[in-house]
Amino acid sequence: MRGPDGGVAFCVVTEQQLPHRWADAGFSTRAIHAGSESDPATGAVVTPIYQTSTYAQDGVGALRRGLGAGYEYSRSGNPTRTALEDCLAALEVPGGPGGGSRAFAFASGLAAEDTLLRALLRPGDHVVVPDDAYGGTYRLIARVAGPWGIAHSAAHLVDLDAVRAAVRPGQTRLIWVETPTNPLLTVADIPALAQIAHQAGALLVVDNTFATPYLQQPLALGADVVVHSTTKYCGGHSDVVGGALVIADGVSAPWMDGVGDVGASVIDRVGFHQNAIGAVAGPFDAWLVQRGLKTLAVRMERHCDNAERVVEMLSAHPRITRVYYPGLPDHPGHQAAAAQMRRFGGMVSFQVQGGQEAALAVCKRATVFTLAESLGGVESLIEHPGLMTHASVAGSALEVPDDLIRISIGLEDAADLVADLEQALD
Ligand code: PLP
Repeated sequence: MRGPDGGVAFCVVTEQQLPHRWADAGFSTRAIHAGSESDPATGAVVTPIYQTSTYAQDGVGALRRGLGAGYEYSRSGNPTRTALEDCLAALEVPGGPGGGSRAFAFASGLAAEDTLLRALLRPGDHVVVPDDAYGGTYRLIARVAGPWGIAHSAAHLVDLDAVRAAVRPGQTRLIWVETPTNPLLTVADIPALAQIAHQAGALLVVDNTFATPYLQQPLALGADVVVHSTTKYCGGHSDVVGGALVIADGVSAPWMDGVGDVGASVIDRVGFHQNAIGAVAGPFDAWLVQRGLKTLAVRMERHCDNAERVVEMLSAHPRITRVYYPGLPDHPGHQAAAAQMRRFGGMVSFQVQGGQEAALAVCKRATVFTLAESLGGVESLIEHPGLMTHASVAGSALEVPDDLIRISIGLEDAADLVADLEQALD
């Protein structure tokens, strides 16, 4: 099939649907098998890294036919990327009978977000953003999309009246949600926000990076689009930068109908923009993320186990003034998290007595925890959001406390993680 630009067909890959036999399988079975059909050329059990930019054609205007065929140029489609996209679509399953989804893999989480914004927004449109979110997402919306005419308002997403008040009728196109948020682990009620968005004729976008599809499935809760930085838990080994969008079948952006000669279907619009903008995941990066997904369930269970042990120690520590973890019964979002998440994840933030200086000293003294940005890998990381990951939101509604420390709990032995933080806090 030809794309709407008359060029290559991004929709080639939609024809290579997830084989139906995985549709009813459990999460880990889908993670291991969906998209991972034996290679049609050799029978290789693991999808090869198709490190090619182009594909031989049967004739002018005639792509090769048969298994593993239909590819023209690797920006438009690459079999290793298709394998990852099929796997992601099988993991972020929408609700409703027969509901399906379509995934698109990108060079980074921000590349995915940028493509979504360009596919769905025109000058004059408005986005509601969280008052706590990854700083780079806010920077993209405020400082990249902003100068192109996209307005935004930050709202505390836990306060549904505040969200309703932030919506501008006829102008708000997206409500953008992170849950749990980076770095304050705020939990947003996805079904309630989906209802607000849909009543306003807008779409609900959920950044599912912290929870992963193993712990939370926003499309099944009413969201329209899921965003991932696959750099994090999906990849899981701190060795790849990637991103993804997963879109429920049938989602439409009627205000964009015909813009760029593409219709209102969000899947079609994102597919067109993925190819037209070109910020795609390369074959090796796609392969690494898919390998990570195969062990996502077991990794997430261990991340959660270890986080619970660390939270127990931090909650009782005299130098800690506040612990942010949705699994704590007194966390303001605990009920919502318990309703929509399988467990509470591997990310924890906390504030220490003594202000910024004390927080920086703890970061410096940790030895098992590596001082580094990013999260979701096998190794535990520690960072100071105010001066590191969230420096770009200083002075905005998203500014974070200067005594805040964020930790990504890895897969080491829990006793070593607890002992390391205890000595760092001494
Ligand atoms: N979303 C969240 C919640 C993140 O934490 C990040 C990065 O830290 C991103 C999106 C952006 O992803 P990437 O760094 O892969 O571009």
